[in-house]
Amino acid sequence: MSDHQALALETSEQLVTCRDTATGLRAVIAIDDTTLGPGLGGIRYRPYRDMWAAAEEAQRLASAMTLKNAMAGVPFGGAKSVILHDGTPPRGRDALFEQFGRFIARLGGTYVPGVDMGTSPHDLQTVGSAGTEVSCTDVDPSPWTALGVYHSIAAAVGQHLGAEGVAGIRVLVQGVGHVGGRLAELLSEAGAVVTVSDVDAARAASLAQRLGAASVAPDQVLGTPADVFAPCATARVITHENIATLPVQIVAGGANDTLEDDRCADELHARGILYVPDFVANGGGVIHVQAMREGWDEARTTEAIARIGDRVTHLIQRGRAEGTTPLAAALATARDIVAAAR
Ligand code: NAD
Repeated sequence: MSDHQALALETSEQLVTCRDTATGLRAVIAIDDTTLGPGLGGIRYRPYRDMWAAAEEAQRLASAMTLKNAMAGVPFGGAKSVILHDGTPPRGRDALFEQFGRFIARLGGTYVPGVDMGTSPHDLQTVGSAGTEVSCTDVDPSPWTALGVYHSIAAAVGQHLGAEGVAGIRVLVQGVGHVGGRLAELLSEAGAVVTVSDVDAARAASLAQRLGAASVAPDQVLGTPADVFAPCATARVITHENIATLPVQIVAGGANDTLEDDRCADELHARGILYVPDFVANGGGVIHVQAMREGWDEARTTEAIARIGDRVTHLIQRGRAEGTTPLAAALATARDIVAAAR
């Protein structure tokens, strides 16, 4: 075991591994913190090198969920689970997810799963059939996540560029799937000058054509000048190495885990680039989960998600007043919220 792996074991409230030979299930559930409520976080289904890699990702994402849920003002703690994608499951996909639901049910309600990369509302319904509470069973939260990112970008543009609204602002959206695709639409409707990119070239081309947007190849993204870079695809796209040449003024997107590590926020700040913490910008999905539970109407949900923009404004202003970054301000705020509830 490496030092890194040993350290990983210290971080979660609960770290559960699951194995079932009949269905081929191998999974890890990380419950990071339940101070604010049961741990809410998606189920990710993708290949992993081994259980260690799966556990590391589950824990990292679970702790981001604690921060996200605290900042979004929803009564949930943070959790995440990953299922190791290991070829076709011997008894089929539904049997795999049903068995996972049985394992989750054993946790007595401390973990409320939702969708994440590689899982769908149907998978969540299957998990729920084992008698555990689940979220995201009938409505995809992604458009709501995109709406929160849109308000975050508008707030950042107002604070950092002194512009009112996003009209005429050049925004580069990396990854135009569920979140990025809707974000590009919202920006385009508001008059932004949108450029899209996706490893699925056909998806990027058809969206670009529909919106009258430009598109760039995935390997050109980090060299493409823009006012705003909105990562909406994979994790850790901003690294110590690429910050020095990043030709943008703001980084604000929907992707989880955008920075290689938190020190990147300081390096971006030193270059005059504003970084909006991902766990604040992409909180629209969890607000929507809460809205579904509480039966809010669309107007109330829309209004709650628009307040993400106010939070971003506040964090930028707090960072400025305290001589720190919005990330440092957001981490301090989220930790205060959790500490106050203890
Ligand atoms: P998705 O799978 O629907 O879309 C991702 C898109 O990115 C796909 O079109 C994919 O082809 C593309 N892509 C992958 N690698 C790329 C690369 N290197 N360059 C360009 N494009 C690339 O996923 P999603 O639901 O839209 O989620 C996107 C991100 O937002 C993820 O990091 C996810 O964890 C995060 N997120 C999503 C939600 C939500 O409600 N869906 C909520 C919070 C955070």
